[in-house]
Amino acid sequence: MQPLWFDPAEILIGGQWQPTAERLPVENPSTGETIAEIARGTPANIDAAVTAAQGALTGDWGALTAAERGRVLMRMSGLVLEHAEALAQAEALDVGKPLKQARADVVALARYLEFYGGAADKVMGETIPYLNGYTAYTLREPHGVTAHIVPWNYPMQIIGRSVGAALAMGNAAVLKPAEEASLTALAFGRIACAAGLPAGALNIVTGLGEEAGAALSSHPGINHLSFTGSVAVGQMIQAATAANVVPVTLELGGKSPQLVFADADLDRALPFLVNAGIQNAGQTCSAASRILVERSRYDEVVTRMAEAYRALRVGPALADLDLGPLISGRQKQIVEGYLALAADLEIAARGQVVADAPAGGHYVAPTLIAGGHGAHRLAQEEIFGPAQLVIPFEGEDEATAIANGTDYGLVASVWSESGPRAMRMARRLRAGQVFLNNYGAGGGVELPFGGTGKSGHGREKGFEALYGFSALKTVAAWHG
Ligand code: NAD
Repeated sequence: MQPLWFDPAEILIGGQWQPTAERLPVENPSTGETIAEIARGTPANIDAAVTAAQGALTGDWGALTAAERGRVLMRMSGLVLEHAEALAQAEALDVGKPLKQARADVVALARYLEFYGGAADKVMGETIPYLNGYTAYTLREPHGVTAHIVPWNYPMQIIGRSVGAALAMGNAAVLKPAEEASLTALAFGRIACAAGLPAGALNIVTGLGEEAGAALSSHPGINHLSFTGSVAVGQMIQAATAANVVPVTLELGGKSPQLVFADADLDRALPFLVNAGIQNAGQTCSAASRILVERSRYDEVVTRMAEAYRALRVGPALADLDLGPLISGRQKQIVEGYLALAADLEIAARGQVVADAPAGGHYVAPTLIAGGHGAHRLAQEEIFGPAQLVIPFEGEDEATAIANGTDYGLVASVWSESGPRAMRMARRLRAGQVFLNNYGAGGGVELPFGGTGKSGHGREKGFEALYGFSALKTVAAWHG
């Protein structure tokens, strides 16, 4: 790895980098080795971070105009690109993702900062002229202190989409990265300081979820919380914020389906079907873990996906193959437990872990499972690993019933050459976002993103993120 240009064992509070009494090891999931240490933030550190954020709101940060805030974000975007390779290598080593994915994540982070920076002075309220004797209008103001608790799978992307939007709207942020992958969050903090973000506008406390994370979510000084992570922790967070009546955005898990109708263009669909399952070794909230195929083309899809799976290679992040390792030994155990549930189904194909992959790495061969049905546990529960289940269906009604038949509702896609059918299905599917003849629209930061059901609530990305990170105030003036 290129050496980091900073000490990762420091937290950022009120513009000052400081060590903590205790530290946590940073594991390289490709080898199992400890490669660094991060600070273990305490509830007292969280308290100091919230106080620093409150100070920023009434200090230099709060005094900036929206355009000035936007310019700071733009400078951060430029610095992210200047440090692109160091950031990509740090993310690859920390998360275990292939370098090409990590490089794409850097570009996405820069793009979030550019988009939100450019939008900072373009979010406005409305004029409501219809009351006799009154002129009324709305203002969009910052919530105040926003808390951001993020997971380990896409640290840079999730920090960009959440913290970037909060700062654009003038909030002061306290960020708690995941203990498994904090390096690029800390690099982001260094970049913010170098870009001239006023002290206290962004505070970063690394540490354990049940310690630093719990202290942040229950802190009475926060005014909004954005959480991305598992359903179980999301439920705890919502309960903790409820005690202080703090609004919360939850971006949780998924069991996202891709629906392949008989009239689909399979040549176009195929790479999307596979990539959306194995990207980031399946550790993606929007992973397409269910492939629903109209029965007349079911065998063909299984055969072609199986062929693609057999060509997949798994190895160390810096070897830059198709897949890297899973984040931890624990995650590997969970995924292998799920794969064992496929005993009553058909293993259509597996990819291969390369022979020289280090023994201490957490490698799992991607697995394509066929012959599934909607009620199977593998079709209901988030695996968060490189496995996809192919399920046959007959007609739109059955496709809809299977697709909508889980607790989740994050993403769905429809593959069909019939425009009316695709539009019909877009209305019928229960999901925060539906993609027609694509999957993910290339990541577009302009597109609002979020879930329904147990996939969460609230929206990030696009202008919706800026609305979500602001509080609406109505003003009505009497003029007789
Ligand atoms: P996780 O819920 O275990 O951890 C997420 C964050 O919460 C970490 O920072 C962790 O330290 C913190 N945390 C843990 N316990 C806490 C507590 N008691 N109080 C406060 N904070 C606590 O999730 P994970 O394993 O890191 O990530 C995987 C999950 O995230 C998957 O379910 C995935 O689908 C979901 N995810 C969703 C999206 C999305 O946009 N919808 C994006 C990425 C990941």
